[in-house]
Amino acid sequence: MRVLLVAVAAILGLAAVAASHAATVAADLLRVRLGGDGSQARIVIDLDHAATGKVIADGSADRRVIVVLQGVSAVTAQGAGSGLVKTWVVDQTGAGARLRIDLATDATIKRRFLLPPADGVDHYRYVIDVAAAPGAPPVKVVKPREVAALRAPLPLKKVVVIDAGHGGHDPGAHGVQAIEKDINLAAALALKARLERTGRYKVVLTRDADVYVPLDDRVRVAQRADADLFISLHSDSGAEAGLRGASVYTLSDKAFARATRFVKADDWYMRASLASDPGVSDILFDLTQRATKNRSATFAETLVTNLDGHAPLLRRSHRSAGFMVLLAPDVPAVLLEMGFLSNPQDEQRLRDADGRSEIVDAVARSIDDYFGQTTKLAAR
Ligand SMILES: [Zn+2]
Repeated sequence: MRVLLVAVAAILGLAAVAASHAATVAADLLRVRLGGDGSQARIVIDLDHAATGKVIADGSADRRVIVVLQGVSAVTAQGAGSGLVKTWVVDQTGAGARLRIDLATDATIKRRFLLPPADGVDHYRYVIDVAAAPGAPPVKVVKPREVAALRAPLPLKKVVVIDAGHGGHDPGAHGVQAIEKDINLAAALALKARLERTGRYKVVLTRDADVYVPLDDRVRVAQRADADLFISLHSDSGAEAGLRGASVYTLSDKAFARATRFVKADDWYMRASLASDPGVSDILFDLTQRATKNRSATFAETLVTNLDGHAPLLRRSHRSAGFMVLLAPDVPAVLLEMGFLSNPQDEQRLRDADGRSEIVDAVARSIDDYFGQTTKLAAR
């Protein structure tokens, strides 16, 4: 392993490999290897297949690098680094394998590239070079003995984005007394508090006040947060007062074609594409979408199961629909209609904090179940 690393480093012209650490990781992501010193670091990720990387953080903020290898599966793994790299963690997100590197000083990604199998190496390698910023505080390079004693970091918290539908000049549906935007926000705030209490989630809200947020901004919030799950909370209204119950929506096939166009018009994805063959990124993007759709459906079914018995459900409660807000193609997303404001019992239940907390608890249980399942799947 060390011989291979030195060979790769020599080919690519890395001046000094002061130390190397390797860890075996299952799934498509085979291994993470580190080399470098106090001023530069090379991270080599051994992969089963080609992949594009998306930079979520380049090191310039919080001395942290986050790169998502799109469409790559990984089990959670972590390790101590040395020199410039303090610690690293790999885990699975909706979009692919996420590598987080905590840096010992101010540094940024200098270059990234994919190496195809060559020179006796039978697999792909994704390489990230990080260099210390000019004038960065020097790094004390710890000896291997001390490296082993460093405490491994806790696994990353899952990022859940909660979107309270409507707001500001867009009130949404009306009940006799309730206004949808207020019900949605109250439920979103309660769900945020409920999830944060567990210590397992980082929760981001698309709005935390009575303000209008355009739909595409809500999608961008999820993308920028590198969300593992996006849940949009709404309240229905129907022409018949008898119509009541919650329902869950995911993206339909038709809307998925729209999702592709929406994102391609936007440079956040294309900018991230690194593959030398432009066809590869299209294929990977398509695969990412498929995986995301499956994950969304899995979460939707979990949600329906958890809501059952705690809140009335519409028949065929998991429906697919082309909601703009679900068009974040690499973030598993569902839209929950919590009930009908046009129905007196539903309105009463949704206006009441205890009534809402039944739904909020069911959603929180679903999120626990969902991430429990994905962890198990990734560990197989
Ligand atoms: Zn709505």
